Amino acid sequence: MSGSTYTSLAENAHKPGEKQPEWYQLSAEQTRLELAAPDSLSTEEVRQRQAHFGLNTLPSAAARRLWRRIFAQINNALIWVLLTAVVVTALLGHFIDSGVILAVVVFQAMIGLFQEGKAEQALSAIQHMLAPTASVLRNGHAERIPAEQLVPGDTVILEAGDRIPADIRLEQCHNLSVDESILTGESLPVEKQEASLSETLPLGDQSNMLFSGTLITRGTAKGVVVATAIHTEIGRISGLLQATTQLQTPLLAQMDHFARYLSFAIVGAGALILLLGYFLSGMAFSDLFMAVVGLTVSAIPEGMPAVLAITLAMGVRQMANRHAVVRRMPAIETLGAVSVICSDKTGTLTRNEMMVADVVLADQRFSVSGEGYGVAGELTNIRAGGQALTEFMQQHLAQAASLCNDAAIVIAQGQVAIHGDPMEAALQVLAHKAGYQPSELAKDWPRVDEIPFDAAHRYMATLNHDHHGHTFIWMKGAPEAVIDLCTQSVSSEGDNKALDKAYWQAQIAELAAEGQRVLALAYRPLSGSRSSLDFEDIQGLTLLALVGLMDPPRQEAIASIAQCHQAGIQVKMITGDHALTAKAIAQRLGLQHCERALTGKDLDELDDAQLQDIIKTVDVFARTSPEHKLRLVQAIQKQAGVVAMTGDGVNDAPALKTADVGIAMGKKGSEAAREAADVVLLNDNFASIEAAVHEGRTIYQNLKKSISFMLPINGGEASSLVLALLMGLTLPIAPLQILWVNMISSVILTMSLAFEPAEPDNMLRPPRRRDEPILNRDLLARVILVSLLFLAGIFAAWHWGMARTGSQEFASTLAVNALVAMELFYLFSVRYLDSPSISLTGILGTKAVWLSILGVLIMQSLFTYSPWLQSVFNSYPLDWPALLFAIACGVTVLIILDLQKRLISFMKTAVKT
Ligand code: ATP
Repeated sequence: MSGSTYTSLAENAHKPGEKQPEWYQLSAEQTRLELAAPDSLSTEEVRQRQAHFGLNTLPSAAARRLWRRIFAQINNALIWVLLTAVVVTALLGHFIDSGVILAVVVFQAMIGLFQEGKAEQALSAIQHMLAPTASVLRNGHAERIPAEQLVPGDTVILEAGDRIPADIRLEQCHNLSVDESILTGESLPVEKQEASLSETLPLGDQSNMLFSGTLITRGTAKGVVVATAIHTEIGRISGLLQATTQLQTPLLAQMDHFARYLSFAIVGAGALILLLGYFLSGMAFSDLFMAVVGLTVSAIPEGMPAVLAITLAMGVRQMANRHAVVRRMPAIETLGAVSVICSDKTGTLTRNEMMVADVVLADQRFSVSGEGYGVAGELTNIRAGGQALTEFMQQHLAQAASLCNDAAIVIAQGQVAIHGDPMEAALQVLAHKAGYQPSELAKDWPRVDEIPFDAAHRYMATLNHDHHGHTFIWMKGAPEAVIDLCTQSVSSEGDNKALDKAYWQAQIAELAAEGQRVLALAYRPLSGSRSSLDFEDIQGLTLLALVGLMDPPRQEAIASIAQCHQAGIQVKMITGDHALTAKAIAQRLGLQHCERALTGKDLDELDDAQLQDIIKTVDVFARTSPEHKLRLVQAIQKQAGVVAMTGDGVNDAPALKTADVGIAMGKKGSEAAREAADVVLLNDNFASIEAAVHEGRTIYQNLKKSISFMLPINGGEASSLVLALLMGLTLPIAPLQILWVNMISSVILTMSLAFEPAEPDNMLRPPRRRDEPILNRDLLARVILVSLLFLAGIFAAWHWGMARTGSQEFASTLAVNALVAMELFYLFSVRYLDSPSISLTGILGTKAVWLSILGVLIMQSLFTYSPWLQSVFNSYPLDWPALLFAIACGVTVLIILDLQKRLISFMKTAVKT
């Protein structure tokens, strides 16, 4: 179609808001005329159209208003308790107290807003990384662009697994079916075709149209964009894009529930104490009320939800830095429990930088020299006395390699850039080495029709004709699939030969045993001109050659697999490639059980029980289909394994969803796989899976550390108050002072735990059990022990202070400082959950730890020595001996806990030996 047919530019094209034609009633040609769209838009035309139509995005749901966000923060049980306390203390005339409690409410809401902001930042960064892309013809060649850059008039190329990026009038399609359920509610995929339709039809019957947001389940397509953004059908219906991700995981939900029930229980207990105390003990109501407020706030872990959410947000960011983008938050926790990783081979475990290394003919074998995608190199016969590549073979090899191929190589200034699938690009390079320019071949032999590659049949075929009435079918694919369709082979001179299957099988085995990926090339000349290629035409072919492609293992994958083994994680390779190739690569990667590879066919012959049994001792699965992946996931899960499974095709979605962690590839994966996955790898690299597991373990540990840090502080405070109330003693720490400790030092110190690096043995211990409760017996015992230590420290400080000075202000200021000192030292202890903390690295801590300690020291000095805070909190300046006493309390806690850890690990090793 020539550009001059069009008045060019967007002047003719429909403007936003204008009544649009019924595109499905127009022919493809009329559609282009209406849109003033040539085959491929130039950069300038795109610019002008973008000025008219804007970006191809749907407006996102309006950000919640600030007051709504503040209200959401305030609307929780603790805040209502505090607000009640503000009112009652004010009514009782304790204005300072009500002012401080009000300040706490504001501070709590601010922390909540800050945490929400951080979480939103982390999530929007992720969404940005996963922005969809589209393959489009611009300036005469195909390129991949962000889908938001599309304009009406663009020519888009689509394949199975793509989410359709705009409303499109089809021009060419093959075997195309689309899942339109999000638009029409129809759950079965609908078949599509390109011819125009005459009647008025509802959306679901407009079979020559593709609608934005729907998903291609099968086939390939090319068409012209007719509407973008809110002018698309989906844009008109929904208008707004709903943000669905939330920073929530099962553990956080569990802790939320826990905190809520705890709050209710504590408020209930407080009310009971208030009633009993008032009627039975005869204490003054205002004193009693303040004591109960103190008890309530001391026992509720106020800062916990915010701290846990920040830990998670930090983790999400950290994983993204290591190229693993988490789409579903619960996966962060599950990653830490993964016990089996099932990975595909090509591109994940191997480099996916392919080069044809060998070409095997019916009578000769050639080795191919060169490096990477560089076009310099030649084919050398390796059989003794073998001749050079004949002219017949040069031509046919180049045509088969280059015409049955969707990739392109562009050579500029001596550099080769590849577009499309790396394996196909390697075949274009082979055509070049055989003496033919792929771009010339494509001009001389235009493609009329094709059967696209599908993992179900494992081949691709094209129908090409030249300008002199010759027509050929070209085919490439997995050798078993191709050889089955061939009835003969051909000699170097072009004479037909009988198909010697034994010879070809031996050649395949030889190439595969070297770790090469083997492809077969075949052809069939057709008489007369043909315009379509159907499955019935794919028979009686002539086998031309086998090509062996090198795809070396990734060095970093080898190291990561070794690391996984050390961490008690099994790694299994599940590939569509040949069993021998898979085995050879598995050996080089260092998989545990690679003496034996099971193929998809073998798997079909096993029942579920046999599969569960055999899977323990097999790590290599070859020639598998997506259904096999699903069976394997289920079999591993039956064995109580926690499985991470990779996938990239549209049919991998069920396996990705069933796996405990579904992992999709960001580069070569389809949009469908990415949407089904929990995690997307931006660089398609196995090493990133291992890194994500490492991070997952670290985040879980950090959440556990935060929880085990906060709970005993609340436990110690609450039990000291209860004890004082029960024994009729003065409260060692006043309610306002407890609020100070909880809102300032506890929150600041716990925040630092969100930045904790992994413990040194993070990837040396076996994965945690999936159902292991976070508060397990050991941790619960620790929480109780530390609570008791805190209780003892608070009382000891108070009594010592009273004995020394007789001043209540002095004694409770000392008790507060002792509590904070114990928190500081306990922070060092909690940084290593199971191993001793008194070591050089333990004491050196991290920047975050020392910054938070500095922050707490400054705040604590203000609390103790600034006259203004002294008047608010009734605090009293402490002298050196008192400060030393507080520090001694902290040191004692650290030493006792370290002794306890050493004792437990000594007992554990004693039991083992
Ligand atoms: P993995 O599953 O590890 O990524 P894979 O890429 O080999 O491995 P598939 O994409 O399912 O898995 O391919 C299966 C087989 O189909 C390949 O081994 C190859 O023989 C053949 N094949 C792959 N891509 C094409 C293609 N574009 N054209 C023709 N045949 C292909």
